[in-house]
Amino acid sequence: MVAIITGGASGIGESTARLFVRYGAKVVIADIQDDLGHSICKDVSSTGGTISYVHCDVTKEIDVENLVNTTIEKYGKLDIMYNNAGIVDNFGRSILDVKYEDFKRVIDVNVFGAFFGAKHAARVMIPAKKGSILFTASVASLVAGETPNAYTTSKHAVVGLTKNLCVELGRYGIRVNSISPNAIATPMLTNAVGIEPSKLEAAISELAVLKGKVLNAEDVAEAAVYLGSDESKYISGINIPVDGGFSTT
Ligand code: NAD
Repeated sequence: MVAIITGGASGIGESTARLFVRYGAKVVIADIQDDLGHSICKDVSSTGGTISYVHCDVTKEIDVENLVNTTIEKYGKLDIMYNNAGIVDNFGRSILDVKYEDFKRVIDVNVFGAFFGAKHAARVMIPAKKGSILFTASVASLVAGETPNAYTTSKHAVVGLTKNLCVELGRYGIRVNSISPNAIATPMLTNAVGIEPSKLEAAISELAVLKGKVLNAEDVAEAAVYLGSDESKYISGINIPVDGGFSTT
């Protein structure tokens, strides 16, 4: 299996990259945090895994095109495209205080990044007549609340893209699915809310229906392994919550 993971230098993307390698996949991590990306590759390669890093700003189509082309040149195919890179912004701000540029920044990464990733994956998966395209959405694709308005908008859009591409690409044997985690104390969230990770984890655990467990990035990685692999070969067009039942309440 050959997999690309965008936003692979941190958080959910990093955990997924490490888990994919443990299951024997060849992984390309794509990010804008070059030092982190290279250091993960060094670490994983030292244990015998096949992994490489490509600098890719997902808001730039040329970068995403290059990412997919580089992967094909290096490994000959692309089985899994995990569009995971994302940002959150404008926490706790009323729509009256959100400027066009603030809203656009989130849409650029979370929606256009997902679009470019899916487009260029489809370009190489269609002739191969197989592939699994994944997105990290969020519980903000299912429920609204205190989450920032641009973020909620962007994650609902990702689920729309998932469903639409499921229909369009199904005829080529390509599956398209999303994963919707609840809050996890990754750098994206801890930086945005300014709460120390252990306190944030405790608060997040309170939100879940499922008690006695702490949601972490590895739980999302396990869902990505399932949706990326042939174990889920008849599953397409869904949005799996990884939230301990939070979104049912
Ligand atoms: P993270 O900050 O740990 O990782 C996100 C990665 O995306 C970073 O390495 C960052 O450099 C990269 N990135 C940001 N902008 C980019 C760009 N333009 N091009 C390429 N890479 C870029 O955060 P995370 O929590 O692991 O986030 C991963 C995904 O999970 C995001 O889509 C996020 O919206 C989603 N998510 C996170 C949570 C949470 O609470 N942490 C909950 C639900 C969904």
